[in-house]
Amino acid sequence: MSNDSNVEKVKVLIIGSGPAGYTAAIYAARAELKPMMYAGFQPGGQLMITNEVENYPGYPEGIMGPKMMEDFRKQAERFGTEIRYSTVTEVDLSNRPFIVKADDGKTIEAEAVIISTGASAKWLGLESEQRLNGYGVSACAVCDGYFYRGQEVAIVGGGDTAAEEALYLSKLCKKVNMLVRKDQLRASIVMQRRVEAAENINILYNHETLEVMGEKEVEGVKVKNNVTGEEKIIPVTGFFVAIGHKPNTDIFKGQLDMDEVGYLITKSDSTATNIEGVFAAGDAQDKIYRQAVTAAGTGCMAALEAERFLIGREMGA
Ligand code: NDP
Repeated sequence: MSNDSNVEKVKVLIIGSGPAGYTAAIYAARAELKPMMYAGFQPGGQLMITNEVENYPGYPEGIMGPKMMEDFRKQAERFGTEIRYSTVTEVDLSNRPFIVKADDGKTIEAEAVIISTGASAKWLGLESEQRLNGYGVSACAVCDGYFYRGQEVAIVGGGDTAAEEALYLSKLCKKVNMLVRKDQLRASIVMQRRVEAAENINILYNHETLEVMGEKEVEGVKVKNNVTGEEKIIPVTGFFVAIGHKPNTDIFKGQLDMDEVGYLITKSDSTATNIEGVFAAGDAQDKIYRQAVTAAGTGCMAALEAERFLIGREMGA
């Protein structure tokens, strides 16, 4: 245990700082709960690596992801959220107050905890993919597909996300090349049928990505047929990666219920986890929608539920 001066007590601790965390902070702060937020390893979350956001209501001209997160942060701070730019490393949720340790050496005792640690998109791991991220490479077709309307694009992956995103892109783009590394899709049968039926989706089975081509922006993708060994370059302007996400929930393993991938399980119509007083919002608990606006919505729910929980405790319920 750290020495006592490093132990602080808070009513609500928010772990993670994307749209879910900041929205929870705005609501909790306005309810005078004096929330503390640990912003984590990527303050602002996945929107910090997004270019323009055009689908968040209230920004008719669109807004850059990092600017939007700055606005969220300022709004949370305006009402008194204390933000720490450090990462939570350890949690003990077995008793209340919950005990949380961070890499700034602090130990926080919290009466309620809101988890909004988000998820990270999985990437192929190519140098060119990283270099052109935000310049034609994207892990979110719903966010960025619009920029490639009328153009030819490629999407990697064969799961439900890739199928759903390929269909989304097929409505906007001239042609969608779906790069699937096996000889079959992993997606559900209904989604398989839909992508197969789409006239402008070209499914390339047994194809792996060797390189994303382009100096400053995506100009093509070099692929290899892993059965015949044949290599070719497909001219595309957008390259989407949809090979899964990993929720950032490792530190809660063994304490909170999660599915086999690590998504936190919340009660129906609620952000409540299996531990009373611990709530989960945003992508850490959402593998389906994963949008900034849905994350913000669940962040609001988590703060309202935390407030109700704390009032209930004060009244001895
Ligand atoms: P999945 O793990 O289901 O699929 C990932 C896909 O990416 C697989 O086709 C996999 O190939 C491929 N892949 C993984 N790594 C690589 C790589 N390095 N190179 C090339 N391809 C790769 O992830 P999803 O995000 O699609 O789905 C996650 C979960 O969410 C699933 O349970 C899914 O059903 C669910 N979901 C449900 C939706 C809905 O109900 N509307 C919408 C979206 C997701 P391989 O098959 O060869 O392993």
